[in-house]
Amino acid sequence: MKTEGKSSLHQAPSASPSKAEKIIDGLAVAPGIAIGAAHLVESGAVHVPEYRIEPEAVEAERHRFAEALAAAQQQIRKIKAKAATLQGAAAEEIGFLLDAHLQMLTGSRVVRGVDRRIAEERLNAEAAVQAEVTQVAQDFAALGDAYLAARADDVREVGDRLIRNLTQTPYQAFSRLPEGSILLAEELTPADTALMDPRRIGGFATVLGGPESHTAIMARSLGLPAVLGVAGLIGAVKTGDPVIIDGTMGRIVIHPTTETLKEYERRRAEIARVERQLARFKDLPAVTRDGTSVSLQANLELPRELEMALAAGAEGVGLLRTEFLYMNREDLPEEEEQYEAFRRLTEGLGGRPITIRTLDVGGDKLAYSLGHHIGVGNNPALGLRAIRLSLRERSLLDAQLAAMLRAGAHGPVRILLPMISSVGEVRQVREILKTVARRLQRRGVRIADPLPPLGVMVEIPGAALAADALAQVADFFAIGTNDLTMYTLAIDRGEEQVAHLYNPLHPAVLRLLQFATEAGLRARIPVSVCGEIAGDPRYTPLLLGLGIRDLSMAATALPRVKQRIRSLDYQAANRCAGFIMEQADSGRIAALLDDFNTLA
Ligand code: PEP
Ligand code: MG
Repeated sequence: MKTEGKSSLHQAPSASPSKAEKIIDGLAVAPGIAIGAAHLVESGAVHVPEYRIEPEAVEAERHRFAEALAAAQQQIRKIKAKAATLQGAAAEEIGFLLDAHLQMLTGSRVVRGVDRRIAEERLNAEAAVQAEVTQVAQDFAALGDAYLAARADDVREVGDRLIRNLTQTPYQAFSRLPEGSILLAEELTPADTALMDPRRIGGFATVLGGPESHTAIMARSLGLPAVLGVAGLIGAVKTGDPVIIDGTMGRIVIHPTTETLKEYERRRAEIARVERQLARFKDLPAVTRDGTSVSLQANLELPRELEMALAAGAEGVGLLRTEFLYMNREDLPEEEEQYEAFRRLTEGLGGRPITIRTLDVGGDKLAYSLGHHIGVGNNPALGLRAIRLSLRERSLLDAQLAAMLRAGAHGPVRILLPMISSVGEVRQVREILKTVARRLQRRGVRIADPLPPLGVMVEIPGAALAADALAQVADFFAIGTNDLTMYTLAIDRGEEQVAHLYNPLHPAVLRLLQFATEAGLRARIPVSVCGEIAGDPRYTPLLLGLGIRDLSMAATALPRVKQRIRSLDYQAANRCAGFIMEQADSGRIAALLDDFNTLA
């Protein structure tokens, strides 16, 4: 899932037919589109004067250094106060970093070293800072540790600030730039980025910097479209040139043609339109006109989607697919790694619930790291996959359950089992869950207390038909209409040749959905729908009419579904659903639903 960051529309520059359009690709680190006038951030090291001082000038030089230190501390505190007003994780992120810088400015090795060089080597303060910072950074780098290498950058940054103060070379004042400016620089530090006001700065691009650098993280948190690692950027553009930053594709367009500009304006307007919708519905309750409340949660494929989900007003995570932990790697994730990922999400949700599903690889979803576990049968969709694989490879299941139990100590976690086909499988997992919990407790590890609810995906037709029995052993149902449709109609959901036959409105699918929903509700367990139809407003009246009150969907779908719920009359939707369930023809069902959606 993509997120689109930038919402505000700035004055677009006019196309410049006299100059040829130039496109340069880089790393797409923060999505969204920014169009504006380029502002080249002055880079390059500040000139550092170097000279010897007389013995009698040492005290005065040390005093000058102390003043530069005090000024730096004041500047950093100011930036920190400014950063504290930032939205989301950005405030915390920059706060930590600036605290580290402040520490370096108070009695650290750097400070002591500079003092010593002034006193013993009789170097001027600027040269002493330069020499000391170079030495410390080299020592860090020599240790060959990525964390310390990053700290070396911090040391350099602090040193640069001290030298600027000593030589009275101020930093760029981004606040004085014209609104909508696009910053282009050789490199921007996280602290530079924190100074950017997203209402003033359109976006930025740099020659240096990777997708996981602090600067990239900050850009994402701020919703600033950004492209990093753009080789050849600086020579290709000058201040005032019209530019486009496409942070979604990782592209910079310099001197866009009228056509290109139009296309990007259209895309930007579309993003802005969607975001305006998001903003309008975020804090409104999902309640029908006649007072029926619905819980809307988000499906997450990747942890990084959480922010977007919360921004869209998700009441929780209704489905966390854990496959991301296993993909694109050769080894398997340990319990600890999984726990960390789940804990972060649980904490990020700030008390809202999260439903974490055990591994669902196999069939169409393959993971290299599990290749030899899965094996290749003639019918992978019917083979050793999902819960079957977890029950066969107990170490996989134990690690996941342990991680989920531990995350449950940090917030409301539910555990969801994919591809359940029988009561026996649920009982088996519940026993394993208890065993894993006891083992953790013996180790003195904090876990959820009481144990998290254990639910099942109803996505195999046999499970739907046995829903009354499953409701006796499961704590909740999550109806997976994607697979339920596929298995009911024998249509591969990933096969384009039979895609036209894939139809969740087939009466067979709807009857299974209705049967499972009613069985769950009769047993007084929560029932949600988390297949793709949950995020399609076309289906909303039907699902509500059938008694569903919990929907989980892609974050991007939340506002549209909420909008539909708020425009609906539940009683009317219920009558429509009743009528639809009497039909035997999927064409007629679709027509009835479309009529209802047009009229009500
Ligand atoms: C489903 O099958 O409907 C579902 C939600 O799970 P997935 O799409 O991950 O198979
Ligand atoms: Mg499924």
